Amino acid sequence: MKNIAVIGAGTMGNGIAHVFAQYGYQVALIDLSIDSLAKALTNIEKNLDRQIKKEIISEEDKQNTLTRIRTFTNTEEGVQNASLVIEAATENPQIKAAIFKNLDEFCQADTILATNTSSISITQIASVTQRPEKVIGMHFMNPVPVMKLVEVIRGYATSDETTSVIMSLTEKIDKTPVEVNDYPGFISNRILMPMINEAIYALYEGVAGVEEIDAVMKLGMAHPMGPLHLADFIGLDVCKFILEVLYQGFGNSKYAPCPLLVNMVNAGHLGAKTGKGFYEYKGKEMMVAARFRKAH
Ligand code: NAD
Repeated sequence: MKNIAVIGAGTMGNGIAHVFAQYGYQVALIDLSIDSLAKALTNIEKNLDRQIKKEIISEEDKQNTLTRIRTFTNTEEGVQNASLVIEAATENPQIKAAIFKNLDEFCQADTILATNTSSISITQIASVTQRPEKVIGMHFMNPVPVMKLVEVIRGYATSDETTSVIMSLTEKIDKTPVEVNDYPGFISNRILMPMINEAIYALYEGVAGVEEIDAVMKLGMAHPMGPLHLADFIGLDVCKFILEVLYQGFGNSKYAPCPLLVNMVNAGHLGAKTGKGFYEYKGKEMMVAARFRKAH
């Protein structure tokens, strides 16, 4: 396996392209517009510079990595020689279904089709193709060049062979694969999102303030980031969406998003990306959002 194609050059796609190119693979990076591809290349360069500063790679490694990445706006052209395609496009079931239908048509018969989805069923995505045994989840974590975990998710029809190829490929890019089955939220979000939701409930019920809740989890449980800060970082709309997937998927009210989270999303307070969530973000500064500050 030498040629990899990545669909979607956003936050995750540019990280995935970066890592495969860094480990010697030829990468075709595909997105809808030249602008998004240019932005992705700028980001990759910035992240490679960061790795040089940390003495993880040399200037020569950087140049070699960049020369291994080619960009495309035409999917059919981009995936031509790929033995593996990793889809990291917008988290929307219709968008993913359309992409996988095309990939099934455009790719060679033995090409493995992977998706980086955080919450959509791998089995459902695979069902639009004629090769469900070659469809698999590769759930990278953000930021991809830094985080070691790849959750490798077997759809209902994913073959042992596909799984073992992807498990060993993941190790070749110096990541740690963990094999899980395809049920709502997989393992990562099934455990993370209820924890975040519970932290929001604790705030909603007045058990403690934003900083206090985050401090307990950081200092008491050795989490690098408190759950409310993490929710802001992930995006409150994304958290709500994943909780709804869990709620619907299991039909269990314990996963229902907290009314406070629903209100914040409806108000457009989506966390760091909108500058307002449980905290307010101005440049590099961060403080508890005005409505959650205690009146002294
Ligand atoms: P993003 O919005 O940053 O990027 C998505 C990119 O996909 C955009 O550049 C968009 O133009 C492109 N795109 C949309 N439709 C396309 C198409 N038909 N063909 C080619 N490109 C297309 O999103 P992201 O945060 O990088 O997330 C991508 C995927 O990764 C999602 O499935 C998400 O659930 C998953 N994921 C995200 C994170 C995270 O922390 N951001 C973590 C793990 C997994």
